[in-house]
Amino acid sequence: MTQHILKNILFEPDLSQLVKMFRMKEGSAGLDSLNQLVSESREIARPKGLFRVAFIDSKEDESVIIEGVKFSSRVLRVNLERANRVFVYAATCGKELDDWSAAKKDLLTKYICDTLKEMALHSALAEVGKHLNDLYQPGPVSSMNPGSLDDWPLSAQKDLFKVLDDPEEEIGVRLTESCLMIPTKSVSGIFFPKEETFQSCQLCPRENCSGRRAPYDKDLYDKKYRLLKTS
Ligand code: SF4
Repeated sequence: MTQHILKNILFEPDLSQLVKMFRMKEGSAGLDSLNQLVSESREIARPKGLFRVAFIDSKEDESVIIEGVKFSSRVLRVNLERANRVFVYAATCGKELDDWSAAKKDLLTKYICDTLKEMALHSALAEVGKHLNDLYQPGPVSSMNPGSLDDWPLSAQKDLFKVLDDPEEEIGVRLTESCLMIPTKSVSGIFFPKEETFQSCQLCPRENCSGRRAPYDKDLYDKKYRLLKTS
């Protein structure tokens, strides 16, 4: 099955957004250095992404087999109730920007570089979503990522990488022994068709998370995902 590789992704960081975010004052030295970092990153960044269609072989109560690989997650299993195909993907800010930021020493500069890398990652993710939509028109989709819930821990990255064809060679993303991705501003996951939007955050009680995208719903797991065992 074709794996789609996206390498020529435009990276246009929004300076005014960053000025607001870092509260930089007109004419300040901080603003000059922010300006410099933004233009360097624009030159250097090569965000990348890849995705492929993957077919579901079978479903059990708490797992699903996709292209011969077993994914153990009750939440994923329930979310794929009506699906027969999914889109497995990875996206990254790119090794180029990662190496560039690794050479920075000053704390604030490092923080700004991290923000720019996150922006580059979002550009890559948006491009994956756009191409997927243009090519396959799947309708409304939601996504799950290994490690976002206890139900689908980070170790599942290994399963996901088995379905993809050599992300390290194709887009420079590799897995460490502890299943972290390098560059760290990378993300992998599964897009699946879903009429009502699903966000892992709905099932995650973590407080004060700056990445939260949906409110925690303490009853959702029991209502929709808990497996009722029959004796
Ligand atoms: S609330 Fe934060 S930690 Fe929890 S799933 Fe959402 S982004 Fe991840």
